[in-house]
Amino acid sequence: MSANNKQFLFNQIIWMGISIGISLAISVILPFPISLLAIIGIFILLNYYMRKRMMRRMGMGGGMFGSMSPSSMFGDSSLKYYCMSCGTQHKQAACPKCGSKMKRVGS
Ligand SMILES: [Zn+2]
Repeated sequence: MSANNKQFLFNQIIWMGISIGISLAISVILPFPISLLAIIGIFILLNYYMRKRMMRRMGMGGGMFGSMSPSSMFGDSSLKYYCMSCGTQHKQAACPKCGSKMKRVGS
């Protein structure tokens, strides 16, 4: 997994270099307002292409949530629930000690 992340970062840097090169070339070739429009258009296309490529490689349509693991999105591994009336830490709907359903979230 970390090797994939490294590869991903490496790709990002390469793409950044390519897009900077392209935008520099365009700003030299074309006059100002047109070059800006062309750069924006190319950036949008490149972004779209990269996103599609990444998603296919990762095997999912995660989009902006692609880098997050399901446990960090939905998990409560770092969250703890405490009973509001007696302070017992529990994960049930109702407190096992006093039966209160009022809970507060702590870490
Ligand atoms: Zn309780």
